[in-house]
Amino acid sequence: MKTQKSVIHVAIVAALGMVMIFSSTRAYGQGLSSKEASVERSTFGKLGDGTEIELFTLKNTRGATAKIITYGATLQGLWVPDKAGKLGDVVLGFEDLQGYLGTHPYFGATVGRFANRIAKGKFTLDGKEYTLALNNGPNSIHGGREGFSRKVWKAEIVKGISAAAVQFTYVSPDGEEGFPGTLKTTVVYTLTDDDELKIDYTATTDKATPLNLTNHSYFNLAGSGDILSHVLQLNADKYTLVDSTLIPTGEFAPVKGTPLDFTQPTPVGARITQLASTTHGYDHNFVLNGENGKLKWAARLFDPASGRHLEIWTTEPGGQFYTGNFLDGTIKGKGGAAYQKHAALCLETQHYPDSVNHPDFPTTILRPGAVFHQETIYKFSAK
Ligand code: BGC
Repeated sequence: MKTQKSVIHVAIVAALGMVMIFSSTRAYGQGLSSKEASVERSTFGKLGDGTEIELFTLKNTRGATAKIITYGATLQGLWVPDKAGKLGDVVLGFEDLQGYLGTHPYFGATVGRFANRIAKGKFTLDGKEYTLALNNGPNSIHGGREGFSRKVWKAEIVKGISAAAVQFTYVSPDGEEGFPGTLKTTVVYTLTDDDELKIDYTATTDKATPLNLTNHSYFNLAGSGDILSHVLQLNADKYTLVDSTLIPTGEFAPVKGTPLDFTQPTPVGARITQLASTTHGYDHNFVLNGENGKLKWAARLFDPASGRHLEIWTTEPGGQFYTGNFLDGTIKGKGGAAYQKHAALCLETQHYPDSVNHPDFPTTILRPGAVFHQETIYKFSAK
């Protein structure tokens, strides 16, 4: 990985007996303080046609670090402290661009235009039927063959705020992957000094289109091993019943009395073998308690070994809880780690799967003149 630090010069200023590091950067970073939040811009790699893929390294004053690349507006690394204060990377991914260009299950990616499944790759909007690629058995998943996770996003450092932030933009042309309308999507990643990674999505379109955006990070709060002893609590009394291809039947079922009941903190592995063998683990959409569009807590995750906690807040009505069931050791990720089954878990905040074919689900149709907004916050702590 070639790194061209955007930090043009670093001057060391001694004042009041303290050594203060003052950076003049192309990046964010204002004022004089011994520890400053910062954003560094570097080259992550190059596509075959020479297109540069950039890496943005966001650091907060406590040392937590988020690394995001312009390929797929992908969260490539997320370093947060454990109970001893030691930073560790809690998301799966690759050290180089080659890994992201190869086959992988959306590690850290921004997923769109439509996250999760669309039944038989078909939907009807304003009387017109649209057909999408089938890339998940009989269904379409995660935006099609080349969804937003495989696009090069434009990026800009967000200035004038007191946290490290980067804005990514992608304009999806009318008809791309079979979807109608030119859609402009903006995703802002902000790393706050409270160890929160905020992802804020906005979008506008010139024709009505389905839209369902999420981040597909694979979390492992221990940094290695499996996630079966992570303790999970979900703010969900119900989940969407699905058919054998994971398409919702339209019915919501209570989690009570099932292995999907995470209303109390419960180890992920405690009941995983009781699930239907078809999913090979958790791969379920939960109906989050609280109001669609209002920020509410969705999940609390805790790793007893490292002491790392993750609390997720979202404006979205649903969350797909997926336990990396199809990882089988063939993908070699960061540090050469062979990612095995249940090496990480995803908590994808989004609208319910196949919403576009369920008029009674919260709508996923964005119309011209309206502004789509979703916000999800991943708050880390350790004790
Ligand atoms: C889906 C899983 C799928 C994974 C990777 C999740 O959102 O629910 O079934 O294997 O994404 O594509």
